[in-house]
Amino acid sequence: MLDIRIEKTKNPKAKPDFVNNPPEFGTVTTDHMFVMDYNPEQGWHDPRIVPYGPFEVEPICMSFHYAQEIYEGMKAFKSKDGNPLLFRPDMNAKRFQRSARRVMIPEIPVEDYLQAVYEFVKVEKDWIPTEPATSLYMRPVCFATQSSVGVEVSSEYKFFIVACPVKAYHTEFSSEDSCWVETEYSRASGGGTGGDKCGCNYANTLLPQTLAEEKGYVEVVFTDSVEHKWIGEISASNIMFVIDGKVVTPELDGTILPGITRDSILHLCREWGIPCEERKISVDELKETLKNGKCTEAMSLGTAVVIEPIGSFGFADEGRLTVGDGEVGPVSRRLYETILAIQHGEEKGPEGWVVELK
Ligand SMILES: *Cc1c(COP(=O)(O)O)cnc(C)c1O
Repeated sequence: MLDIRIEKTKNPKAKPDFVNNPPEFGTVTTDHMFVMDYNPEQGWHDPRIVPYGPFEVEPICMSFHYAQEIYEGMKAFKSKDGNPLLFRPDMNAKRFQRSARRVMIPEIPVEDYLQAVYEFVKVEKDWIPTEPATSLYMRPVCFATQSSVGVEVSSEYKFFIVACPVKAYHTEFSSEDSCWVETEYSRASGGGTGGDKCGCNYANTLLPQTLAEEKGYVEVVFTDSVEHKWIGEISASNIMFVIDGKVVTPELDGTILPGITRDSILHLCREWGIPCEERKISVDELKETLKNGKCTEAMSLGTAVVIEPIGSFGFADEGRLTVGDGEVGPVSRRLYETILAIQHGEEKGPEGWVVELK
């Protein structure tokens, strides 16, 4: 059990107006943040919830130089009774531990991570928006704070949790999203950190993302780094297809982040009796099944976007190919509506998925 000190702000901020003037995703923070420090003598210590504000770190702070940093993304919702609801937070806690291990950050026990999230959400309860398609998006982050430019494992770290009230990335559930199939740049390679939520995975997606936008695409799906032959995932979300009536998604081969949305969707589809396949999908198979009409749906999946239907794919050699009839398909719609209903406590999901904080 953490003994969390709580220091409330004396200057609470105005909450955003989601009806008339919704803020850009992730630009408005709540009043407080959770912080905890690590050093070799004390281990993780001084857990506290304090007013949101900047950290003071030295220019030779190790994370600036070698990106020894990990993060999580999770959302809080409000039940009809006004209690905070969290969606599968234990999965985030466990993934945070796995990510930590990969980049030599001292692990935070699952129960401490959860306690920190729960206490923080309770303090920020009034910041959980209730307008349609809104939530409180949280970022637990851990970064190296030792002051040194030597390339080595840092001896000191900070763990913090901040939160932003957000409106869903896309408020219309439509198939306007399009995806460039990237066969030149790659996001992750075998044996690397692609399967963990490490900050270092994202900077290298920004150039291909920008180039894809210049070509008129919204997202980029990366392919394997060796042959550029196999579909991987999008910069910060997983990808799933409906091919021949089956739900198909690339298998977790270490280069793909094991998404909680991905896992939840596979679980629901299996419960509904929809056949699911986690396997290799080649760029050629995608092209062919788009052309012969067998690939009827495609989705981008993640906590922030939830489910975003993809209406078309772009290929270096073939140009743009439409998914199915270009409209949102029935599997995507059913999954989207079910996940949202479970997250908001309107529908009962599988045992243990939703945690209500009272
Ligand atoms: C976070 C993330 C996802 C989605 O994971 P969720 O647990 O569903 O939010 C997928 N891919 C990458 C690269 C990610 O960073």
